[in-house]
Amino acid sequence: MPQMIDINAGSILRSRLISLSIVVASSVALFLTFQVAQSRSRTGSNWKATSAIDTKRAMDYLQQICDLGPRPSGSVAMDRMRQIVTQHCQDLGASVTLQPFQARHPESGEPVSMVNLIVSWLPEKTDRVLLCAHYDTRPFPDQDRINPRGRFIGANDGGSGVALLMELCHALKKLPLNVGVDFVLFDGEEFLFDERRDANLYFLGSTYFAQQVALGAVPGKYRSGILVDMIADKRLDLFYEANSFRYNRELNEQIWEIAKKQQIREFKPRINHEIRDDHLPLNQIAKIPTIDLIDFDYPSPGSRVQFWHTQQDIPANCSGESIGKVASVLLEWLKSLK
Ligand SMILES: [Zn+2]
Repeated sequence: MPQMIDINAGSILRSRLISLSIVVASSVALFLTFQVAQSRSRTGSNWKATSAIDTKRAMDYLQQICDLGPRPSGSVAMDRMRQIVTQHCQDLGASVTLQPFQARHPESGEPVSMVNLIVSWLPEKTDRVLLCAHYDTRPFPDQDRINPRGRFIGANDGGSGVALLMELCHALKKLPLNVGVDFVLFDGEEFLFDERRDANLYFLGSTYFAQQVALGAVPGKYRSGILVDMIADKRLDLFYEANSFRYNRELNEQIWEIAKKQQIREFKPRINHEIRDDHLPLNQIAKIPTIDLIDFDYPSPGSRVQFWHTQQDIPANCSGESIGKVASVLLEWLKSLK
């Protein structure tokens, strides 16, 4: 996960936010008061995994990815992961396309090979939707108070989106779809070694992909898109994200309504954070109305404990059930498309 640029004022996240470049507070304490009250009164979800979604298998994928170690752009582990995901998706019937591009290492200046992975279902269809996530991990856990230059596994931040899409492949294999679906895994979402110096190095893969879409170099036309990022928190909390709400309010409301019908209470239909993420280039450059499903509060709203961008972003702090809940909602959305 990249940057939060704006948050409703309040105390609970302040210690985290000081280290980020927070810009403004918007419409304020009301949200937070409600949010805190909600998290205290949480009663759990009645959701049961359907036969189409296997939460244990989703968690196994997450573990398998994390067992590769840190997976920053250009690394051997990233390359290995790409091979594993490619094989997995092809075995389940998808067409896989690699979209390579070059970036520059911010420290050495050397070229770094990056690759977006495009997993297509019904590739012949022009009418398409997009599900996407980033699959690189941040080079260092720079928010870690003990060891900010330590080992960053990125289980939730980088791994969870991949595990979700791998799990969804099983369901899509059997699903009669009315539209083409592309899962796109973005490289270079946060190839940052120094937050201030490298701030323009966010979203390299999604920007490249969006440029290719704008140039007409990607087949098909996308109706809309959904980005997933950090969706494996054991204490999952998914709020509307402000930019997403502005770009595609209807899709936000539709997705949260599906979650409500499935009794997945972790989807909370109100705006919380405003976040810069891969959905911005998709909206702004490719003009694909895309929303971001992101749980920025990892582990939970109001917690002083923080796993985000620390050495604690590990599988033990993630949940297959959380991945499964998001997968279940996305699957229902894909089924609903006419
Ligand atoms: Zn991140």
